[in-house]
Amino acid sequence: MIKSKYIAFDFRLNEVKMSKKKSNFQKNGFVYLIIASTIFALILSSLSNPFSASTEISVTETLEMIADGKVKEVVVQGEKLTIIAKDGSKYFSSKESGISLLELMKDSGIDPLKNDANIVVKGRSGWGTAFNILFSFLPIIFFGGLILFMMRQAQGGANQTFGFGKSKARKFTENKSGVTFKDVAGVEEEKIELAEIVEFLQEPAKFIKLGAKVPKGVLLVGPPGTGKTLLAKAVAGEAAVPFYSISGSEFVEMFVGVGASRVRDLFGQAKINSPCIIFIDEIDAVGRHRGSGLGGGHDEREQTLNQILVEMDGFESGGFNIIIIAATNRPDILDPALLRPGRFDRRVVLDVPDMKSRTEILKVHSQGKPIEDGVDLSKLSEQTPGFSGADLANLMNESAILAARRKKDKIGHDDFAESIDRVLAGPAKMSKILSKQTIKVTACHEVGHALCGHLLPEADSPVKVSIISRGHMGGYTRFLPDDETALQTKKQLEARIVVALGGRAAEEVVLGEITTGASNDMEQATKIARTMIMKFGMSDILGPRTMGKREETVFLGREVSEQKDYSESLASVIDEEVKELITSAYEKSKSLIKDNIEILNNVVDYLIINETIEGETLTKLLSTQS
Ligand code: ADP
Ligand code: MG
Ligand code: ZN
Repeated sequence: MIKSKYIAFDFRLNEVKMSKKKSNFQKNGFVYLIIASTIFALILSSLSNPFSASTEISVTETLEMIADGKVKEVVVQGEKLTIIAKDGSKYFSSKESGISLLELMKDSGIDPLKNDANIVVKGRSGWGTAFNILFSFLPIIFFGGLILFMMRQAQGGANQTFGFGKSKARKFTENKSGVTFKDVAGVEEEKIELAEIVEFLQEPAKFIKLGAKVPKGVLLVGPPGTGKTLLAKAVAGEAAVPFYSISGSEFVEMFVGVGASRVRDLFGQAKINSPCIIFIDEIDAVGRHRGSGLGGGHDEREQTLNQILVEMDGFESGGFNIIIIAATNRPDILDPALLRPGRFDRRVVLDVPDMKSRTEILKVHSQGKPIEDGVDLSKLSEQTPGFSGADLANLMNESAILAARRKKDKIGHDDFAESIDRVLAGPAKMSKILSKQTIKVTACHEVGHALCGHLLPEADSPVKVSIISRGHMGGYTRFLPDDETALQTKKQLEARIVVALGGRAAEEVVLGEITTGASNDMEQATKIARTMIMKFGMSDILGPRTMGKREETVFLGREVSEQKDYSESLASVIDEEVKELITSAYEKSKSLIKDNIEILNNVVDYLIINETIEGETLTKLLSTQS
């Protein structure tokens, strides 16, 4: 995410300007060419047709006029006759070639000697003819010019192609990025780590004196939206050294070898400006495990990666003071060579923020947003477990937009509450009209989830039930973990399956009918059960071992296929175990609901009227036996 505040310098600043000028000139030249030829053509046409406005008459009429003595002068130019009458009007006419005007006059009985018409004969090779010839060449000149222009353009294109090898890194100079460590909240240790690295660059002597080697690379690792890019930009803002920023994907281009040449160019620039920092965002785009690409070791990415490795080794011997910061959310797929000591030997791990950090991040993003008194940001962060920094920024922004739409001048509690739901599930669909039966089923289903969560001590507690439809959901129930940082026990995971199936169980128990609404719940339940058995070794029969290897497809980083590293007979045991987990969980949720059917019915009635039940009201309702 690049804010428009950023003042970015392009490496090729001069070149870009030059080529821009050139193309301006070319364009202007082209315009001049058109204007000039238009003017030229106009002049020509007016010259060769000086009396184009005058009337055209036939030869016979001309001769009659001469005979009547109305003509003062006739100018003969080849076949063209220009007649100037005594009253001043002009005519023109054309005769056949091969016969002169005098002969024509004689033929029609006019004696040229007696007639007072002045006959002027101008040669064919006069200006007019010359212009005529030129005029007929004009289109050729024009198109010639056009072709020349197009050839030049094409050449410019070729020059651009050759410029591909230049790195596209943007150079941020000190404090121009506008982001500083103050803008990054809730990552204190990580900031200290990075600040130390900046110090390495600014005062290397301090460390070298003690025999310490300046670290070469820092890898920022963390899920999307946790502030990796932001943190790197803050380093740019804090460091008093040049900062080059490029995204991994910018190395990958249409032509093979471009990536490697860009890397060379980037490091070349960096070496000239040492000490400096290079930031490679999303390095997994090029840093993928070598040998996994199609086409063996000649994959474009691999060449690029090899070049990065070579360059990183290179500036050790050169004594250059350069630190590379790279960011990725997929450290698992990076080539081990990148991670060995001497390359990206330091790792800064950013994680989804905990409650305290969330409060800090909310504080940062609430700056410049008027908030109603009594809104507690730490309460807000309590309600948003699992939100990344980007989600929180989004939440703040959504709330402000909502408050503005509601024509308030301060952001209030209900704006925040609605925005949390929006960020999680999408905007409410108020206009959607549902049948009474659907509303009843939805309410039953959601209260089923909530009730199971409430009754099971190991399960997360429900904080909100709603039958307002959002996105694909007809309704939803939100839970909050009691302790979001703790490790999960087997009991908790089992309880989660029970809660997930609580919706379907309620449908079956109360309405005696099951619906399609529970498909996502079952998917989740199955996923939890499978991971419990295959990844966490929580099966009594199979014991503590993992099963299946996750595999990446080469080009689609997201798509995960599973490699079987177990036998067919084991596969059927896994299936059995999953089935066992799910069936017993379903039985459990059905019995929970059967035993508390009155509570459920009460809450359902309340929910149908109120659409949403939240917080303490919900806890109270779920605990009251009528
Ligand atoms: P990443 O690169 O890790 O995917 P970004 O650095 O692009 O994430 O973060 C996206 C946005 O989320 C940032 O621009 C910022 O507004 C917000 N954000 C993320 N983490 C933090 C944080 N720790 N403090 C403040 N804002 C944050
Ligand atoms: Mg990023
Ligand atoms: Zn459900």
